[in-house]
Amino acid sequence: MLDPEIRAKYTPTIGIECHVQLKTRTKLFAAVSNDARNAAPNTLISHICLGMPGALPVLNEKVVEYAMQVAFAFNTEPQRYSHFERKHYFYPDLPKGYQITQLSHPIIVGGYVDLGIEDEIKRIRINRVQIEEDAGKSTHPTGKDYSLVDLNRAGTPLLEIVSEADMHTAAEAKLYAHELWLLVRYAGVSDADLYQGNMRFDVNVSVSKTDKLGLRTETKNLNSFRSVEKATEYEIGRQIELLEKGKAIVQETRGWDDAKQKTFSQRSKEDAHDYRYFPDPDIPPIVLSDAAVQTIKSIMPTLPRQLRQRLRALKIDPSATETLIEEMPAGKLIIALLDSGCNNDAVKRIANWLVTEVQALVSGGTYTWENLHLNPDHLVVLADMTTANKVSSTGAKAILHELLLTGKSPEKIATEKNLLQVSDESEIAAIVAKVLSDNPQAATDVKNGEMKAIGFLVGQVMKQSHGKANPNLAQKLIKEQLGQ
Ligand code: MN
Repeated sequence: MLDPEIRAKYTPTIGIECHVQLKTRTKLFAAVSNDARNAAPNTLISHICLGMPGALPVLNEKVVEYAMQVAFAFNTEPQRYSHFERKHYFYPDLPKGYQITQLSHPIIVGGYVDLGIEDEIKRIRINRVQIEEDAGKSTHPTGKDYSLVDLNRAGTPLLEIVSEADMHTAAEAKLYAHELWLLVRYAGVSDADLYQGNMRFDVNVSVSKTDKLGLRTETKNLNSFRSVEKATEYEIGRQIELLEKGKAIVQETRGWDDAKQKTFSQRSKEDAHDYRYFPDPDIPPIVLSDAAVQTIKSIMPTLPRQLRQRLRALKIDPSATETLIEEMPAGKLIIALLDSGCNNDAVKRIANWLVTEVQALVSGGTYTWENLHLNPDHLVVLADMTTANKVSSTGAKAILHELLLTGKSPEKIATEKNLLQVSDESEIAAIVAKVLSDNPQAATDVKNGEMKAIGFLVGQVMKQSHGKANPNLAQKLIKEQLGQ
C-alpha cells in the first residue's frame, strides 16, 4: 500500500467522459428499433446500419430533443448551430469504417453539474456534449479461432458527455457519475440501465506535485459507479508509485479488470488527427430556432437538485431525501404530490413511509416500486387520516401495507380491519374510569407525580378498547380524571 504521507504530496486531477444511450424508439440515422435487449444478433439492422454503398442517413429528431433537454439539465442552453463529423478508424464492428459524431460544433458547450447540497456544493463543469452513434458489439469466444460481430447496437444514439477535469478524489468521480445517472433518468432521456451498458464511463486521471498537470491515462468502459471509484483510486496509486520510483507515466488507454481490481494497458493514445475527421456531407447541420429551444425548456421535468431543494425546505432529512431521489418512482411520486399542492404534513408522512415501509417491502425482493399500488390519492387520504388521529400510526402502517398490495382505498381497509380509532370522548372516558378503578396503585402513583405510571394506564385503556382508542385522547382524559 502507498504511504499516506507520500500520497498526500500529490494532487490527483480527474475528468470523466460518459457515453449515455438515449431511449429513442429508433436509431440515430435509421428507422430501425433501438431496443436490442431481447433481439437475436443482427436482426435490428438496415442498409444504413451496415453502411451499404449509397445508403443515406436521416437524423432522428427525438435525439435532438433529448440533447436539448440535457443542455437544460446541465444549466445551459443547446447550441443553436451544430453539425456532424466522420471519425475514421478500422474495426470489425464498424462497417462504414467511420463513426458519425460531432467535433468542431457539438450540440452542447459548457454547463455544469452540482454535487452535494447547499452548504457544500461541488460544481463540476461540463466541457461539451456531442451526439454520436454507437458501434456494434464484438465477442471473442474463448478457445475459438474466430470472433463474432453483432450490429444490433450499431447506430444507437449516444450522448458523449465530457466533463472538465474538476474532480480531485475517487469519491468525487463516483458521485459525479452517479449524479449524471440521476439526471438523465429524471430528464427522461435514457433508461440508464448500467447492467445493459446504457452508461459507460471513461476516467481520465493524472497526478502532480506542482501546479502543472501530470500526464494522464484514460481508463475506458467502466460500467458501474463502484468501478469508476475503484479504477480512479487504483490509477492514482499506480501513477504515484511510478513517479516515486523515478519512472515516467505513459499517456495511454487502459482497461479495468474487475476480478483483479486493477487497470491494465490497452493501447497508446491516438491524437485527433489520426482519425481524419471531416464534416459529414450526407447530414445537414442542426439549426435550432429560439421557439424550439423554448418549447423544450417549458417541458423540462423537475430534476434531482430541485427536488433536493424542495425536500430541504420541508425539513426532510438529507439521507431520506437521497433515498427518495435514488428510487425514481418514489421521487416522481413526491414531485407529483408537491406539484399538486398537497399539504406539507401529508408529503412528509408519505415521504417517511416511502423510505421506511415501502423501501423495506421492495428490498425484500418480492415486490418492486412498479408493481406496488402507489396511488397518490390513497396515500394522501391515509396520511390525512393519520394526522387527524382517525387511525393510529401503527394502524396506518397496517393499512399502508394492505393498500400497497391490493390497491384498495384506505377508508375501506380501515373499516375492514377495524382500525378506525375511537375519538369519541364519552366512550373513552368510560373506559378510563374503569381502568382507574381497576388499577388504584397506578392511579395513586400518577396523582403523586410519577408520570411513568401514566404509560401503563394508557396501555390498559388501549387494551380495553381493543387498540381503537386514540392514545393522546386517553392520556388527556386520564390526567383530567386524576385532577392533574
Ligand atoms: Mn465517443
